[in-house]
Amino acid sequence: MSERGGPTVLIAVGDELLSGHTLDTNSNLLAKALFAAGHPVRRVEVVGDDPDAIIAAVRRAQTEAGVSRIVVSGGIGPTPDDRTFGAVARALDRPLELNPVAFAHIETLVRRMHEAGWVDTDTVSEANRRSALVPAGSTVLPNRRGMAPGLAIELGERTLFVLPGIPREFSTMVEEELIPHYFQDGAKPHVTEVRYTSVPEAELAGPLGTLEGEFPDVIAGSYPHIERRELVIRLRGLNEDRVAAAAARLRELRSDEEPPGGIERR
Ligand code: ATP
Ligand code: MG
Repeated sequence: MSERGGPTVLIAVGDELLSGHTLDTNSNLLAKALFAAGHPVRRVEVVGDDPDAIIAAVRRAQTEAGVSRIVVSGGIGPTPDDRTFGAVARALDRPLELNPVAFAHIETLVRRMHEAGWVDTDTVSEANRRSALVPAGSTVLPNRRGMAPGLAIELGERTLFVLPGIPREFSTMVEEELIPHYFQDGAKPHVTEVRYTSVPEAELAGPLGTLEGEFPDVIAGSYPHIERRELVIRLRGLNEDRVAAAAARLRELRSDEEPPGGIERR
């Protein structure tokens, strides 16, 4: 497979993710969006606000065979614990430079904040200016919900993105910039589910083994939901008919599927 259509690696940056104070919802949102777009995520890596850890994670992804896109989130704001742009620049061996597009956006926001009476001056502070200091060669992705810009950096066969950590800004940029402009060439998967109630997971081992042999092009996952005594078998593949045929075969192999709406068995 060419690297262009290869999998994506996500790198979520933040001490608060590692300490458990914040749940890494950005990775989940992006994984869902990329799966639907036909760009499977190979790996999610969470690192602290530590330049060395960010550099190591970016280099790992950059040298990993087959990876076509790398998405880094968080740590691009104005405070000293925001170190992602500097670390990415070092990982790529590029200097940081003031990006005029990013700076103009920050200037506009600071002016508006001043006009609204939120800040004392309309001059861009050194802290805010840091968000416009980006690795050389970056394309700025507009951030209509915040100040720090997103970035797309072309690395030959790969593209590296840096996105804001704030979930609202992150999700808007994924939906409005990444998916429509950078993730349109994927082969979209077809997914179907077969659900059982009060069926022990082990009883599906045989049927799923048979299915694996007969449908090597369909991937089956078994997901028990203990609290509602439900077992979800999720089937996915690139060919819709084959996924449907695999689901029909599974129903044949184990017939007591839950009827639509669910049943209560005691
Ligand atoms: P800022 O401009 O505010 O500094 P940023 O892009 O630098 O934004 P962070 O400083 O890393 O992002 O985080 C901003 C907020 O978003 C914090 O409240 C942080 O906990 C939250 N956040 C960061 N990363 C994630 C993530 N992966 N999932 C959910 N929330 C996150
Ligand atoms: Mg952070």
